[in-house]
Amino acid sequence: MEKECIFCKIIRNEIPTPKIFENEKFLAFLDINPVNFGHALIVPKEHTETIISAKSLILREMLPVSKKIAAAIMEARKAQGFNLCINNYKAAGQLVPHLHLHVVPRYDADSVTIDKQKTKKYLPGEMERLASQLKEILMK
Ligand code: AMP
Repeated sequence: MEKECIFCKIIRNEIPTPKIFENEKFLAFLDINPVNFGHALIVPKEHTETIISAKSLILREMLPVSKKIAAAIMEARKAQGFNLCINNYKAAGQLVPHLHLHVVPRYDADSVTIDKQKTKKYLPGEMERLASQLKEILMK
């Protein structure tokens, strides 16, 4: 755990965030600046910056977690597809130096790009409602 890392703070419940999945090694929560509603982040609880520094076991276990989360997001958001993306280092657009896998729901012709200026805003309460819906789907 890194004291000042924003994702470590979320893991330690120091920053309230609507969480959608948690197990011993990973936490998943909704991105606060979604490129499409339902955009989620999966983070290993053990702090590491990129896939280069991550333990191979964590990388192996992250994909099966993403499969569950992506299926739940597809169902809840009636998405037609999804992207999995990891930005590694600042030059590649990594803003938070704690490894995280983006799960982005996609729709035919939704014109989504990786341009971070084009994010959407949840209305008050919407993010919490969607997180509860996803949690329910994930518990089925
Ligand atoms: P990256 O650019 O790959 O490092 O992505 C970091 C992501 O973390 C961005 O999409 C941010 O919107 C998201 N983010 C930053 N702070 C929070 C937060 N407190 N809760 C949820 N998502 C966050």
